[in-house]
Amino acid sequence: MTHVDPAHLVELALGHATAGEEDAGALRHIRQCGRCRDELRTMTRVVTAARTAQLVDLPAAPPERVWRRITHGLSPEPPAPRAPGAHTKRDRLLLTALTATALAAALTAAHRAGRLRRRTG
Ligand SMILES: [Zn+2]
Repeated sequence: MTHVDPAHLVELALGHATAGEEDAGALRHIRQCGRCRDELRTMTRVVTAARTAQLVDLPAAPPERVWRRITHGLSPEPPAPRAPGAHTKRDRLLLTALTATALAAALTAAHRAGRLRRRTG
């Protein structure tokens, strides 16, 4: 049985499924395969958590140098000062970066779990 590629599972978790045959085939497989269903469920949880996360959910505000590194290559303009509590493009970029990091971690975990299952099962 060929399982759904983890990158494809991420696309499905992000809600990027199309009406095309590739996605339809993947969704048919997921309905019948517990392993792929579990991985998609995990990735969907990560996506949902990341999309609903707020900066206040972070244990501590990220240091200014983190923001500078993220934005360094994205914009030639220095970040503008902001009103306390205001959500800025900077916040959205930081949350996007955190989402990407969380997805990468979920993908890595899914890969490792799959490899372990193939070795033992
Ligand atoms: Zn599968």
